[in-house]
Amino acid sequence: MAPYTGADADMQTRLATPWCNPGSYGHPSLCARPCIYIAKNGSCHVDGCDYCHMAHDLPVAKLNQRQRYVLQRLSVKVKMDLVLEAVRGGLHREGLTDQAESLLCLLEQEASKHSQQASHRDQRRQVYDLRKALSRMTVADTIHAVQDVLPEHVIQSFQNLRRALLPSVVPDPLFPMISKCELSLKEALALFPAPQAAAQMWIL
Ligand SMILES: [Zn+2]
Ligand SMILES: [Zn+2]
Repeated sequence: MAPYTGADADMQTRLATPWCNPGSYGHPSLCARPCIYIAKNGSCHVDGCDYCHMAHDLPVAKLNQRQRYVLQRLSVKVKMDLVLEAVRGGLHREGLTDQAESLLCLLEQEASKHSQQASHRDQRRQVYDLRKALSRMTVADTIHAVQDVLPEHVIQSFQNLRRALLPSVVPDPLFPMISKCELSLKEALALFPAPQAAAQMWIL
């Protein structure tokens, strides 16, 4: 069979995991936040939804308004050090340190590019508070919280890691998990192709 290219390759990737929308990649440790449509209605109408469609047992830990305000005003160096520590801790907690080696390497490189500035006592207290808050958050939320200072290739490395980690919950049976909202007509036709006999007759 000829290799898939471009859009076909992308679609083939999705068909290889038809029960997994982009937001569910890396579930349960690196996925996005739970989808509110799934929580409310049990199904989601967003094509290629960027939120997780799998079951989450733990409540979502996130930064409060004050913590977000403080984070936005920190220097790039302090932010990078915070995210590196939180991501490293989160990946270790999930047993993913080895698989995430290249992501951690890139984060370390970025953190080392910026020089440390003297901080006053109030800021040190705020950073301590932020460090505690980030350590309770998922790796995906931590990356999201500081994405304004992360170069594209670091974010891409995280996305690659997520895609490499398919959800550990394999639905059984497989196909009933596909809601009509998640599957486009093109994908449905690719999954359940029409018989080829007629087309072959024309070619012959
Ligand atoms: Zn999830
Ligand atoms: Zn959704």
